[in-house]
Formats: sequence, structure tokens, C-alpha cells
Amino acid sequence: MYDVLIIGAGVSGSLLAHTLSKLDFSVCLLDKESDVACGASSANSAIIHSGHDPKEGSLKAHYNLLGNRMYKDLCDELQTAYRQVGAFVVTTSKEEEGRLEELIANCIRREIPYEVLDGDELRRREKNLSDNVTKGISLPTTGIVTPWEVCIAAVEEFLLNGGEVLLDHEVTAIEKKDGRFLVHCHDEVLETKILVDAAGVYADKIAGMLGVQRYSITPRKGEYYILDHTKEKLVDTIIYPVPSDKGKGVLAVPTIHENILLGPDSEFVPDKDSVATDEGLDYVRREIAKTVKNIPMGNIIHTFAGLRPTPDTHDFVIGEDEEVENFIHVGGIESPGLTASPAIAEDVKKIIVEKLHPSEKKEYIRRRKPVIMREMSEEEKAELVKKDPDFGKLICRCEKITLGEIKDVIHRPCGAKDVRGVKRRCRPGMGRCQGGFCEVEVLKILSRELNVPMEEISLHGKGTRILVEEAKEELL
Ligand SMILES: Cc1cc2nc3c(=O)[nH]c(=O)nc-3n(C[C@H](O)[C@H](O)[C@H](O)COP(=O)(O)OP(=O)(O)OC[C@H]3O[C@@H](n4cnc5c(N)ncnc54)[C@H](O)[C@@H]3O)c2cc1C
Repeated sequence: MYDVLIIGAGVSGSLLAHTLSKLDFSVCLLDKESDVACGASSANSAIIHSGHDPKEGSLKAHYNLLGNRMYKDLCDELQTAYRQVGAFVVTTSKEEEGRLEELIANCIRREIPYEVLDGDELRRREKNLSDNVTKGISLPTTGIVTPWEVCIAAVEEFLLNGGEVLLDHEVTAIEKKDGRFLVHCHDEVLETKILVDAAGVYADKIAGMLGVQRYSITPRKGEYYILDHTKEKLVDTIIYPVPSDKGKGVLAVPTIHENILLGPDSEFVPDKDSVATDEGLDYVRREIAKTVKNIPMGNIIHTFAGLRPTPDTHDFVIGEDEEVENFIHVGGIESPGLTASPAIAEDVKKIIVEKLHPSEKKEYIRRRKPVIMREMSEEEKAELVKKDPDFGKLICRCEKITLGEIKDVIHRPCGAKDVRGVKRRCRPGMGRCQGGFCEVEVLKILSRELNVPMEEISLHGKGTRILVEEAKEELL
């Protein structure tokens, strides 16, 4: 029997598991997908928001502010990338300038650093801002991360410190018997004293399995374009329009790897798994043109969509259930959930510690940072290639990723098991050719390193079979 079982290995579940792994008790993190961070935590704007826009008095405002202040230290601890690139919220009309005043009031109340700028000054700082921009505020404490990198790193440390991760485990039913939970994953039954529901868009369904109807979630889709990295960047700072009832609006966001995200739109959808991109992208194209000019649409290399788990309570649902003892909600975690998650994890940890009183672990094992050759000097690279020639064999030409780096991310705790897993951990397939050249190679490497036939390795999204046929042809 586990002390704690967490359903959902998105950023909410992963960061909770990570902070609980510093305590001496048994914790299990499970997910229905074959990798961590496959839900909203893999498809979002990747922004660590300053906390300027959530409604006063909401849990979103509270946890956004705390999370923003925790992120740099968290990323230092996990050895993951964090950049405080700052943001501009810009207006294009007098009416919008009125709404900017509300954001300024939030900044003053919440002690968020800000600066009011006129259109000309904004264009001096960001040359591709539209000529229509009249005014704006600068929010220097806004940052960016690579969301799945944060989750993977957190789960690695959780595993290194005795945590258990069960992937491909879909929770299908839950019973409460003699003060413990019996969690059914198809034919398997897991037992736990405390159950945490961090199941993203499915969190209401999980609660419903225990008869809890506290809230319901409707997925709200957001679609994006990704622009290739170029020498001349479209923007160096995040560009927000003033927020509306539909959320933060369509943004231009520089990413950790120097790409640009344009999006998202905001559409309620009935299907909790619907992440296909469609006409939402036309809206993104129209809206972004209101705040940013000279957009090189020819540099679009990919599109994607994410689903916000929007609750009917309009706020996060966090804490122990009022009726089912030891059942803890981490639900309705829509934006700014990525930002808020470290702060939410600390509060949920407090609830659990009060119940089980575990001691702190005497020793804690830190993860080893993956080998990232693009961060190395020429001398360091040469040294590494001398020790292991695989670091001299280029597999992904667009992102310049070597065989050594791919092997490293396969043979780690929480290592890559499929083509998408390799792509998210070290980027082959993230560049201009979108895997056209390297995907087959990655499949062959996975098959060799994991000693699994290629047919059994999944690609995700595209159908592995075609890729396997290509790979076999090449091997003939
Ligand atoms: C378009 C968009 C833009 C956003 N932009 C930002 C941003 O810039 N900044 C920010 O702070 N926030 C942003 N967010 C919000 C942020 O992405 C989410 O709040 C956060 O990722 C939620 O994490 P989570 O772990 O709660 O849910 P998820 O990441 O969705 O994880 C839930 C997990 O539960 C698993 N699961 C579900 N059902 C079951 C089951 N029955 N059995 C087992 N496992 C199950 C799923 O497979 C999934 O892995 C954005 C969200 C979207 C969609």
C-alpha cells in the first residue's frame, strides 16, 4: 500500500511528487499516457506569468504570484532552463487603455514590478510592435521555461529518491474501503492512504468515481503556430494584448530554444482529447497582426493545440474534499497553472504532512543534467568526442543533435521510450524539417538501445508503421 498516490503526471502531479520525494514515505505517481507531461503541460504558452491579471481574491492570483517568485530557484534546483525575458501588455485603442488601468492596480496591490510606456517607447524596445500600439506596461518578472522539461526533471529526481512512476496506467474506477482507496487501472488494483486528483481535463471524472460532484470541467482549446529560430528574432519579449473575458488573448512568445510561439485562441470543445488544429489558427493569424508586424509566416514550422481544463467554478479547486477524507483535489488547473504549480505543490504537501507526519529524508539525490552539446565550448565538445565518439555523430541536422545526446536521454531515469520522448528530451525533430530526416534514425536508435523491435516502439501522432517500413528499407 502507498502512503500517497497521485493521479496525473502533468506539471501539477510531477512537482507535487518531486516535493514529496524529500520526505520519508511511499509515493506513487501514475498516468494513463506512456510518458509524463502529455496533457496541458505539454501544450501551452510556456510563460511564467507575473501575476498581473488573475481576479483579485482568487486562488489563481494567490498561487500565480507565489509560483512566479519560486520558479527561478526551482529551475536552478532541477537544472532546467528558465529565462526572465519580461513581457509587454499593449493596447491598440482608448478603450483598452482603460482596461490597462485595472492591470496597473493589480500590480500595485500585488507588489509586481511594472513600468508604463507609450507606443513610441514600446516600439523602440521591440521594433516589430504594430504601429497601432498606443500604450503598454512592461512586466519584467515574467519568464519562460520549457514546460515538459520541468516535469521530466522533477520526475527524474522523484525516481532517484525512491518514488514510483506507473505510466500506461489509466484509472478506471476508485473505491474507498476501510479508510483506504482502491484505485483500479483496468485489471490492476492499487491501494493508497491518500489520493491526489491531478488529472487535468479528467479531474472531474476522477472525482466522480468517488461520487464527488464538486465541479465540472469543459476543455478550452488553444491553438498555436511555431516559427523557426532565425538570426533576427521577431520579438525578444513576450507580447500580450490586454486580457478579455476569454483570457490573456493571442500572444507572441519567444521560447527557450529561440523559436517564436504565436497563439493561442480560446474555444470550448466537447471532446477532452481533441488537440487537432483547425480554424482557430485563422483567428490567431488575424489577432496577432493587431499587436505585431513583419511576421514571417513563411517561417512556420509546426502548429499545435492544448486543452485548458476550465472548471465551472472559474477558479482552481485545491484541497481535501469536504466529504471524502484523504481525497485531495488539484483540479481546474487552467492558466496560470504552469506558473502556479510549485506553490500549489507546497500547500498540498502541507496538507499531507499534517496527516501522515513523515520525516525529512537525510540524503537527497540530485539528478545529473543531460548532455547538451549546444551549451558547450568547442574545447569541451572536443574533449567529450575524444572520450565517446557517439557525441561526434550528428543525427538531427536542424537542431544539431548527436547520437551521444540521444543515447543519454534514453538511458536515464524517466528516459525516452518512444520517438516523441526523444524529441521532447533533446530536440531531434523540433527543427525546420520536423523529423523528416532524423525520425527514422531516432527510431532505429531506440530499437537498438532498448532492445525492442521497431514495430513495438511508438511514434505518437503519425503512425509508427510507416516509419518502421522506411527504416527497414534503409537497413536492407
Ligand atoms: C493553450 C494553453 C496555454 C497555457 N499557457 C500557460 C502559460 O503560459 N502559463 C501558465 O502558467 N499556464 C498556462 N497554461 C495552463 C497550464 O498548461 C496548465 O494549468 C497545467 O499544464 C495543468 O497541469 P496539470 O498537471 O494540472 O494537468 P495536465 O498537464 O493536463 O496533466 C494531467 C494528467 O492526468 C492524466 N490523466 C487524466 N486522466 C487520467 C486517468 N484516468 N488515469 C491516469 N491518468 C490520467 C493525463 O494523461 C495528464 O497527463 C496553458 C494551458 C493551455 C492549454
